[in-house]
Amino acid sequence: MANVLKPKELIEGTNHKPPGTGWMDTPVDFKPGTWCYPGKAKNLNVVGLPNPREWSPTDDDWKLPKDWQQILHEGLKERLVKYRSLQLFMDICVRCGACADKCHFFIGSGDPKNMPVLRAELLRSIYRKDFTVAGKLFGKMAGARELTEDVVKEWFYYFFQCTECRRCSVFCPYGIDTAEITIVARELLNLIGCNIDWVLGPVANCYMNGNHLGIQPHAFKDMIEFFVDEIEEVTGVRVEPTFNRKGAEVLFITPSGDVFADPGTYTLMGYLMLFHEIGLDYTWSTYASEGGNFGLFTSHEMMKRLNAKMYAEAKRLGVKWILGGECGHMWRVINQYMDTMNGPADFLEEPVSPITGTKFDNAKSTKMVHIVEFTADLIRNGKLKLDPSRNDHLKVTYHDSCNPARGMGFFEEPRYVLQNVCNHFYDMPPNTIKEQTFCCGSGSGLNTDEFMEMRMRGGLPRANAVKHVHEQHGVNMLSCICAIDRAVLVPLMNYWVPGVDVAGVHELVANALVMEGENERTTDLRNEPLEGMEDSDNEDL
Ligand code: SF4
Ligand code: SF4
Repeated sequence: MANVLKPKELIEGTNHKPPGTGWMDTPVDFKPGTWCYPGKAKNLNVVGLPNPREWSPTDDDWKLPKDWQQILHEGLKERLVKYRSLQLFMDICVRCGACADKCHFFIGSGDPKNMPVLRAELLRSIYRKDFTVAGKLFGKMAGARELTEDVVKEWFYYFFQCTECRRCSVFCPYGIDTAEITIVARELLNLIGCNIDWVLGPVANCYMNGNHLGIQPHAFKDMIEFFVDEIEEVTGVRVEPTFNRKGAEVLFITPSGDVFADPGTYTLMGYLMLFHEIGLDYTWSTYASEGGNFGLFTSHEMMKRLNAKMYAEAKRLGVKWILGGECGHMWRVINQYMDTMNGPADFLEEPVSPITGTKFDNAKSTKMVHIVEFTADLIRNGKLKLDPSRNDHLKVTYHDSCNPARGMGFFEEPRYVLQNVCNHFYDMPPNTIKEQTFCCGSGSGLNTDEFMEMRMRGGLPRANAVKHVHEQHGVNMLSCICAIDRAVLVPLMNYWVPGVDVAGVHELVANALVMEGENERTTDLRNEPLEGMEDSDNEDL
């Protein structure tokens, strides 16, 4: 891992002692490994964002627009009217500190400005100065300050050191959601052309080609067909997915990370096998080829634009409803925003499982069902033949990804599925899972290499809980239902808890799934020998 201290050095070098100067007088220090590269001009141009230019956060001159203070003032004013929650969050914090030690970035870095309360003060101090009488009259004494270029630099640094995970809000007695404050602050930064490329690149790709990686439709199809061959090799069964098929009952959409990046690809093989086995009448779309929505990390407007294509494609294909794969923020967008943003999707039908007849009332308006809920229903109705002993080589725990957990209250369904497909499942300590789950440390578009030190720091509390079950129970597999998690938990585990691998829940479902006409399975989807089959695997080799 490039340019990151060894774990022991990182821990020993962490300073939880506050600096000698007050927070308003402590300038931001852009240390390598703790900030993300800025959005490239070409990506801003693709989606029509303002002030496209080449620049670096370490430059003295950020080349802001001439009237940048006015733009930010007007932008904040507009949003205070538009989002009543923002006005409330600006006014009601009593600085009780209950949230202070709940953020993984504060725990891992010791930087006081990573305490949620202080992160919010970065914006609140400007709000006070511009929009409150006390702030206008008493300035600093009332917690107000002038909007300067240094403040913009501080916003850029710290609002891109928040993964919008909402853990802090669980502990706030007033329900202040610092993630919402970060979302608005990032939106304001976008008005003056200050965003990060790991968000803007995927947004531009998604806008042009339908997915984060900018993969063309024919390559998307080729990749899925490659996995069809892989499945046949492991199971002897040839699955037959269809693409852009009009009149299919269901449109299936998953993050492109499942199609192009290990270990998400094994999860994708799991979906293909499951759909084949139950005979689901479904289609992939090579145009709505991305479930993820990095618009959420850019602005409400961008989120709406990117979300719209999924529903436009469902309409074009004439499907009844949408089934969504294992993703994190895709579900936050669907569950919290879609209905009033692009919905209700009245042209689709209320989802009903064609296999069990179960009506998914919770998807009445969005018409989109979570794959784990769909599979849990299949298991509950006895529709799957499962052999959990095929996962006996694994001791599994489960990471509640922040968005499905805190954004949807989705706690029991993944555990129900896991406990039916694995014989060895161990939960992490209660204050680190479900509603209180610790973030992976790399969500909300921060999963970029140049940010690696901060990612390892932010992921420390999650890794620490995994280490606990690794040492107590020999856990060697961390499962999750988020494509970003599947990508970022791998380096996190390699760094803090070597010996623990990462898998999507549907990879483990597919290992256990007994398919009609299959050959005797000797390996899992990764070609690792199943327990008791080590010799047969060696013979093959
Ligand atoms: S817990 Fe809530 S009220 Fe208390 S300091 Fe944090 S944001 Fe403010
Ligand atoms: S939303 Fe998450 S990352 Fe952001 S301040 Fe709260 S706990 Fe920290």
